[in-house]
Amino acid sequence: MSVFRPTRLEIFLTNRCNLRCTYCSSRHLLAGAAGTLSAAALKKAVSIFAAYGPGPGGPRTICFTGGEPLLEFPLLKEAVLHIRSLRERFDITVNTNATLLDRSKAAFLARSGVYLAVSLDGGKEVHDAHRVFAGGGGASVYDALLRNLRALPPDSLAGVRASVTVTSRTMPSLPDTIETLQDMGFRFVELGLDAYERWTPAGLRALGRTLDALRARYAAALASGDPARIARVFSFSLENKRQKAGFYTPLGDVSLSPEGRFYPSDTLATAGAGGGDFSVGDLETGIDESKLRAVYRRAAALIPPGARAEGAFSPVDRCLYCLVHGLDPRALLADAAAANRLFSEKIGGLLEVQRVWRELAKDREFGDLAHAPRQAASKPVRRLAVAAGGLAPAALRAAADFALYSPSPSVRLRLAAGRGAGPDLGTAAVYSSLKARLLGKKLRLAAESDSL
Ligand code: SF4
Repeated sequence: MSVFRPTRLEIFLTNRCNLRCTYCSSRHLLAGAAGTLSAAALKKAVSIFAAYGPGPGGPRTICFTGGEPLLEFPLLKEAVLHIRSLRERFDITVNTNATLLDRSKAAFLARSGVYLAVSLDGGKEVHDAHRVFAGGGGASVYDALLRNLRALPPDSLAGVRASVTVTSRTMPSLPDTIETLQDMGFRFVELGLDAYERWTPAGLRALGRTLDALRARYAAALASGDPARIARVFSFSLENKRQKAGFYTPLGDVSLSPEGRFYPSDTLATAGAGGGDFSVGDLETGIDESKLRAVYRRAAALIPPGARAEGAFSPVDRCLYCLVHGLDPRALLADAAAANRLFSEKIGGLLEVQRVWRELAKDREFGDLAHAPRQAASKPVRRLAVAAGGLAPAALRAAADFALYSPSPSVRLRLAAGRGAGPDLGTAAVYSSLKARLLGKKLRLAAESDSL
């Protein structure tokens, strides 16, 4: 059995919010009596999480959300300073609607290495379709947010994530929304779907059309061979529910409610009074791993095999939602499965290419697709077999480039790793495919490994 070590702590700092978005997944939380975690409670929660220690998979994450965390900025600031005083280097994220964001808050967060995720669903019409101020009054949330973003120093949006919630109503404008946000200066656009919306047959048809349009943009950018254009179309991500749909034990995630209780998921932490039964610990007792596993087993038992497709909707979240609100999950699960199937049919392959692209971009040798070799074959190289076993990544890339940059319009490349192939073989294969496309070459690729 794997060692239990949560990798992401989501803290619902407060249940107060100055907005009342129609699809708010924290709506049950917001409806309760106002509650905010104290500074002492925040420190306790962080020390419980920190006690598990860093793991092998990169920095662990602490995410502040709500409600609107910037309503409690002094508290947030104290918590961030405390986290930064610890030995372990955590990624810190703050989810905000940005209507209370100003230069000094943004400067503090940037100085402290905090990632901001700004809820922004698109242009004014799209954003204001679902986002309204608490108490009404008719003022535009989009205008307020834009005023604040414009008051920030130039280029400050480059490190800020636009977090887009998509509904069936705003889905048709999604391709334009992504472009609009990129034009505004966001380098990262993250898409999430309204988690509990029902998808009617008409809604599913509209979803299919939108995904077709997205796929056409991907394909056109790839065919253009322009690395800047490719990077742009790939600079968004669709919230990936693969982990949760895998075998339903996303044990890495823990959420803390404003009353100081731990839950296995944000769905349960935001459920209001009904969530209490699913609590897996508190600030006194810590996190009870066996309770956490038991909650997921309970949800998994409700999910029929046909609903276990991975995609944009997590069947687990839907089951947990039904469990806590006493609903029959069948209809919600059928919806999620139908939408997930569409995602996988229409853009599943392209999202996989996007994922590999991102991995590649991090790789020193293979990530730089604009790289041109100092020396290339002067005569056409139509076939090349590379004994890749033991080759360093730079040498492997040079070998692929030797053939790809030769004057031959088509190349047969065989990458043979032999026994004990390193992880670079797959990366070299993807690099060669993308590079061939960028160079306009026809590539036939074979990658062989005894250990695969
Ligand atoms: S800003 Fe966030 S917490 Fe506030 S109402 Fe909207 S979705 Fe809910």
